[in-house]
Amino acid sequence: MTIPVQKTAAASGEALDAPMFDPAAYRLTAEQADIISRARQLGQSVLAGRAAIWDREATFPTENYKDLHRAGLLGISVPKSLGGLGAGYQTYALAAAEIGRYCGATALTWNMHVCSTLWSGPLADDLDMDDEMRASHERRRAIHYKRIVDDGAIYSQPFSEGGAAAAGGVAFGTEARPVKGGWLVSGKKIFASLSGHADYYGVLCTEISEGEKASRRNTLYLAIPAKTEGVSVVGDWDPLGMRGTVSRTLIFKDVFVDEDAALMPRGVYFQAAMRWPHMFMTLSPTYMGLAQAAYDFTLKYLRGEVPGMPPVKRRMYPTKQIAVAQMQIKLEQIKGIWFQAVTEARANPTKEQVLRAYAAQYSVMEGANELAALAIRTCGGQSMLKTLPLERIYRDSRCGSLMLPWTAELCLDRIGREALYEPGETDE
Ligand SMILES: Cc1cc2nc3c(=O)[nH]c(=O)nc-3n(C[C@H](O)[C@H](O)[C@H](O)COP(=O)(O)OP(=O)(O)OC[C@H]3O[C@@H](n4cnc5c(N)ncnc54)[C@H](O)[C@@H]3O)c2cc1C
Repeated sequence: MTIPVQKTAAASGEALDAPMFDPAAYRLTAEQADIISRARQLGQSVLAGRAAIWDREATFPTENYKDLHRAGLLGISVPKSLGGLGAGYQTYALAAAEIGRYCGATALTWNMHVCSTLWSGPLADDLDMDDEMRASHERRRAIHYKRIVDDGAIYSQPFSEGGAAAAGGVAFGTEARPVKGGWLVSGKKIFASLSGHADYYGVLCTEISEGEKASRRNTLYLAIPAKTEGVSVVGDWDPLGMRGTVSRTLIFKDVFVDEDAALMPRGVYFQAAMRWPHMFMTLSPTYMGLAQAAYDFTLKYLRGEVPGMPPVKRRMYPTKQIAVAQMQIKLEQIKGIWFQAVTEARANPTKEQVLRAYAAQYSVMEGANELAALAIRTCGGQSMLKTLPLERIYRDSRCGSLMLPWTAELCLDRIGREALYEPGETDE
């Protein structure tokens, strides 16, 4: 099958796009601006041109990961003292949005990878641990970070099991039974992005001894080497969108995992889920980027400036101008609430900040697809040909609101309930 290589602005010798979040307007430091610009440049000049390939073939963007490693972006949130770029939550989110603007599947999978360092790094630093626990955590995470920075190791984040666990309702069904020197892990993860391509699967599972009841408090976050005996990847992958994520099913059957595989010490994942809720908002930057991409495309298309297309202008029609105005207003609204939410991500946020985080997640995940739909309606039939990126943006953006634990439905559910009830309140 011949894959259409889409002509990108950068490949056609055009200027690089402006940043989504102008560093001066959004008061970013020069260091943040530099990291985010690295992501944007790689996205526009390299990743955009390849995005159609992974999408059409539903294959993993291995080449992109080599480039992310070369650009230092695999270690974006690894501390500088350990060879990374030292990006915190906000900087990572802004950089990830720029990657999502050019290749949704790369941004989404890169998010799973980066979270293994963000959660075990800046986020874990905010949580309670005694001195001994903190020292052993620091020793262990340095092992993971070294693999990433030196060898380009890729980590994934399989949570979903098809039941209520990924939504945070019950303990994970994947079990880790303690044995000498580590655990024996057994279970199944569905929709496991990067399956067959990650070097380590960052599995959420429940530590459980013989006769014990499963409890969410005993959640472990273990980086299981992909090549370990007992690990297998099954099923096929042929979805509507985000096809390059290769989110197949992972099976673990009595897989021995040693103690140094822990990305967080015992009890710390549960503490994070309770005290650092914005940890579950990290899937949104990808879709923030897709929202921007739908808008960018529409402007270029109506101005007759899409590379590879005849230079036909359509911007003079009032209906198009109104549509663009509506898109611009929606995009600004999404950007505004999302920027605020990623900026105030922290331990122990206020109720208002948590509600805003749900609202931001909802706005981005639903808004990206609404913008893509508006873009197709406004640009017209030729714009949805597979030689152009818009139809892929439309399909990829449809997946955003399905991502657990903060699906669009669950965000609505929580906002409604938490706005109306204080903790412990009932109507009995
Ligand atoms: C492209 C893509 C990549 C993915 N990559 C990963 C990955 O790398 N790792 C990973 O762990 N998962 C991944 N997922 C899975 C994703 O996070 C969800 O787990 C998955 O989409 C859920 O599908 P489901 O049909 O099993 O959901 P179900 O659990 O059947 O839920 C269906 C819907 O019901 C609602 N719902 C669920 N539970 C509740 C509840 N308690 N209360 C109220 N409403 C509820 C939600 O809105 C949900 O969308 C990926 C999904 C996609 C589409």
